[in-house]
Amino acid sequence: MTTTVQRPEPPHTPPDGFHWEAIETDRDKWRLATWHEQRYRVCRNSPVHKCANMVTMATARTATSHGPVPKTWVRWWLYCDEHAYGRWIEHTRILQWRLVADV
Ligand SMILES: [Zn+2]
Repeated sequence: MTTTVQRPEPPHTPPDGFHWEAIETDRDKWRLATWHEQRYRVCRNSPVHKCANMVTMATARTATSHGPVPKTWVRWWLYCDEHAYGRWIEHTRILQWRLVADV
């Protein structure tokens, strides 16, 4: 079975000599939301977090504690399709537009 995916429009008209290509987003930085997150977490859309859409993706944010021994760890911030900074999901992969020079 094939699913037709609705890709978002690229951010703007490419400048002369360039075009947009869909590339996979770095898997260390973005992942799909889990089943649990989709049901119980809200979109992180700043600054009010009032978006009611279902979350679909998560991005890694590094947090640092301010103790005598500073510690850093990764927190996953969740976003819906609309607020994932132009990213979209195709066949369980997260894609984004990249501007590339025409050959
Ligand atoms: Zn949202």
